Parts: sequence; structure tokens; C-alpha cells
Amino acid sequence: MALLFVLTLLITVFCSVQGRSFQKTSFEMTEENMEIGSTNNFEEDDQSASSLILKANRNLGQRHDETLVLFGDIAVHPKFINADPCTSRDCKWPKSSDGNVYVPYVISNQYSMRERLNIESWLQTFAKSTCIRFFRRRGQQAFLNITSGSGCTSYVGRQGKAQQVSLSRNGCVHLSVVQHEMLHALGFDHEQTRSDRDNHVQILIQNIQPGLEFAFRKINTINLNTPYDYNSVMQYGRFAFSRNGQPTILPIPDNNAVIGRATEMSPNDILRINRLYNCSGQQE
Ligand SMILES: [Zn+2]
Repeated sequence: MALLFVLTLLITVFCSVQGRSFQKTSFEMTEENMEIGSTNNFEEDDQSASSLILKANRNLGQRHDETLVLFGDIAVHPKFINADPCTSRDCKWPKSSDGNVYVPYVISNQYSMRERLNIESWLQTFAKSTCIRFFRRRGQQAFLNITSGSGCTSYVGRQGKAQQVSLSRNGCVHLSVVQHEMLHALGFDHEQTRSDRDNHVQILIQNIQPGLEFAFRKINTINLNTPYDYNSVMQYGRFAFSRNGQPTILPIPDNNAVIGRATEMSPNDILRINRLYNCSGQQE
């Protein structure tokens, strides 16, 4: 059990990056600035989850406090890394008799009123198209503890007790990031780790920062009969964790396809939630 916990923590997904590598090469460079040879700026108005998370986490290294090891934005188990295999065991949130899935949360007073209102309104976006209902905790044992910690991170799936979702005030308070981290908490992994990813993307190991290769490992995900989706809010950009400004994730067969630029959940992201949690009456 302890091992499982540690492993789960390890997955604290990948948004953390070693800062030194990012001073010269941002890994979320846009195709536009690649073409003009600029390598040190994130696109100012890029609100994609991938870009924002990688930017906010660029100075995070490995943190060995307690059992948490951050590599990117997942605090999770590398072995369990679309829906994580753990969702077939014990990390799904329970379904209520009314058909909804209630997920308790507490939110830190570190946030300004405006930030808190924004985050909470973004949590409610799930209720519009799925049976997920985030609500303020009323004594429940398992809940999300939303705090402004280091970077943007989440565990994958329900942990059975308080579980931190870090949404740093410094870069993570955005719709796309909140949805991304909540999808982790609901049990979903990054798109590029899907079991069928080799048919859709090529991982260029030689361009990945040393030590971060594991973040690109394929996982035996449960894909719920949904297609690989470049526009998923869980898809990282093509330069994620690049050591040299060269792509780490190349879409195939069309190398020029746009990937990792979603600014909110895609229809497939929504469909997966509804399938994983058997939401009835929702879009199928
Ligand atoms: Zn993530």
C-alpha cells in the first residue's frame, strides 16, 4: 500500500522541469517563433494547458519532501501511468445514487477572491457536460486540497484522503490548467502516454532532457473507445521537455499537425469523462 502511494506520488505529472534548461529553450515554443529563430520566449497569449503548465513548472525540480516527487505536473505512480489503469481498481470517484459523481474540495485562502471565484467557476464547467460535480467538502475523508503550491500539479485519480492539487497563483490560475489538473484528479493521464500513441505521435528521445524520459513512457491506458486527440487538454506540446529546442513529440504521419494547443477540454476529453464515469444523459 505504501509502495502504491509512493508510486502514485511519482506520477505527479510532468510539468516540472529543470529551470536551467529552459532559460534558453522554452519547450513550448510556437511554430511561429521557431521559424523566426526565437528560442527564449513563450508566446504571450498562449493559453493552452500545455504551454501554461510547462511554463509555470519550469523551475520545479525534484522535490523529495515527504513522499512527493514532482516531475512535471503529475504526482503519480509511474507504473500506473487516457484513463489510468488505476481507474479499473480503486482510484475512481464514487458514483452517487442520483447518477452524479461528487468530488469534494477545499480551496486555500491564499487566493484572492477573484482567483477563488474563477477557479470555482471553472470547476463548475464540468457540470455543464458531465456528471462530475465538484463541491465544497463537508467532512469527507477523500477530497481535493486546492492550494497555491509549487507549480501546477495533481495526483492521478482519487487517493482516498486529502490530495493536493497545486494551482500556483504564479501561472496556474487559468481555465485550461484547472481543467487539465482536474482531469488528472479524475483519473486521466497525458495524451502522449496513451497505449496507442505510437500510431499518432513519435517520441524523439534524443531531444528530451536527460532524466525526464520516463514522462514519455507509454502507459497501458484505458482508452474508452475514444480516438487519440491532438486537441485534448491533456496533450503536451511538441517541444515539451526539450533539451535542445528540437521537438520531443512529433505528430505522425502529418508532422505539421497542431498538437498541444487546447485552451479548454475537447469534445473527446468530455466524452471520456462521461464514459469512464458512466454519466447517463450526457453526450455520447
Ligand atoms: Zn499534466
